[in-house]
Amino acid sequence: MNSYPLFINGQFIETAKKQNIINPSTGKVIAEASLASPKELELGLASAREAFDSGPWPRLSLLERREFISRIGQGILDNAADLAQLETSNSGKPIKETTFMDIPSSAEAFEFAAHNFINYLASEEIKVCEDARANLLREPMGVTTLIVPWNYPLLIACWKLASALACGNTVILKPSSLTPLTALELAKIVRQAGLPDGVVNVINGSGSLVGESLCADKRIDMVSFTGSNETGKKIIQYSSKNVKKMTMELGGKSAGIVFDDVDLDVAVNSCLTSIFLNQGQMCTAMSRIFVQEAIYEQFLAAFTEKAKRIKLGPAEDFQTQMGPLINDAQRKKVIAGIEKARAEGVKVVCGGKIPDIAELKNGYFFEPTVLANVGAGAHIFKEEVFGPVALINKFSSSDEAAILANNADFGLAACIWSKDLPRARDLAGRINAGTVWINTYGMFYNQLPYGGFKQSGFGKELGREGMLEYSRLKNVILDQSPEGKPLVNYWYGF
Ligand code: NAD
Repeated sequence: MNSYPLFINGQFIETAKKQNIINPSTGKVIAEASLASPKELELGLASAREAFDSGPWPRLSLLERREFISRIGQGILDNAADLAQLETSNSGKPIKETTFMDIPSSAEAFEFAAHNFINYLASEEIKVCEDARANLLREPMGVTTLIVPWNYPLLIACWKLASALACGNTVILKPSSLTPLTALELAKIVRQAGLPDGVVNVINGSGSLVGESLCADKRIDMVSFTGSNETGKKIIQYSSKNVKKMTMELGGKSAGIVFDDVDLDVAVNSCLTSIFLNQGQMCTAMSRIFVQEAIYEQFLAAFTEKAKRIKLGPAEDFQTQMGPLINDAQRKKVIAGIEKARAEGVKVVCGGKIPDIAELKNGYFFEPTVLANVGAGAHIFKEEVFGPVALINKFSSSDEAAILANNADFGLAACIWSKDLPRARDLAGRINAGTVWINTYGMFYNQLPYGGFKQSGFGKELGREGMLEYSRLKNVILDQSPEGKPLVNYWYGF
């Protein structure tokens, strides 16, 4: 069985304490991963700090850093098939998704950082008056902790890592202890790319045990977190102890809005993808679908009929359309959400149970589920389920759609489906979410910043703004007035 060590200060470190890694499709152990103890945490913190304070990385020219970053992207591409297999067997994400989405997009994050960050990080000179000018310098934040969730283990790690490295930071990357394998494999690629020791450290450990040390320690300058609201709130508390820079990418309860002028097949197919991809375990899952009343019944019938046809199976099979949930605990959480909805009078139109398929009985599978006419008072209308559960509701007008979509504590994303583009754009402007897709779903572009409003967090990933989160702006002011500085020089009249 493969064993995955931690990566600290350029060394692979096997720890005494290990954790079994389970394949969610089969429930079987596929590998073991080292778990950090306070000793390895201390090594990681010290090495990242030392690499920042005294090592070459932050002092390299942008062009030099670019070479290393580009090599990581290439390393991912060179190992793409193996990484896709590994991600799939660790996370249960269908192999079609890891092969065509997660792994190539992970490589692209480094390519983008390597080729665009120079433009973003260039210093700027501002002439403020006749004799004074300022240089605005973009410096790295310092030592950054990057904490990632289990639903996009490699991709989210790469978004964060590429930006943090491009800006010249050193890094402690903490994958979810449920899905650490691709991040630990990425450490090998980082090493092959020749980055100086201590610049990237990958430390696996349960968040509740290692999280506070990685967020509250004074040696850390920034925490970039993606995960649940519950954990996000704890991290805000830890980080506030010494006022660190933070970015928070948290949960969602996003709305897909379908107007009655759509091509029904296109809208139904796309809405299915927008909630059932990755078994609905997506922060941007369109878990609340609002359909204009004239086509509501037709839409619900077509959506339900197709939801029933989604092919469940082992994530490793290219024919599989829906794999297992990440573990039994997550499945129980989904079931509890549905049971609560049932108790509140919500109608389960299809799914809502564990599939009765002998070959799948050891995995954590769950049927695609459709709930209809869910009142805004039901808990499931507002709470994130993080599973394959679609709510399908009716709306009459744009105004009502805006009210329904905004009726959530989250504000991560939304989708609008309509041929009337002025109407769709107008509605997009009224939706309280950081990303609104019109006639598409889930398109993340490296050029575009991504991040939520309200309790979906703050700060951005990707794009110019996302990359600059990992830098700090220094203002150096130079006064060249011939007589010295009139105001400060003569203030006391000496
Ligand atoms: P989680 O909050 O349980 O865990 C996320 C990470 O935090 C993991 O690495 C975990 O080990 C770590 N962690 C747990 N407790 C910690 C603590 N006390 N201190 C520090 N770190 C700790 O989230 P999850 O279940 O892995 O992921 C699902 C959640 O992530 C969902 O709510 C989803 O919406 C959200 N998510 C958001 C985005 C986004 O971009 N907004 C993207 C993906 C996932």
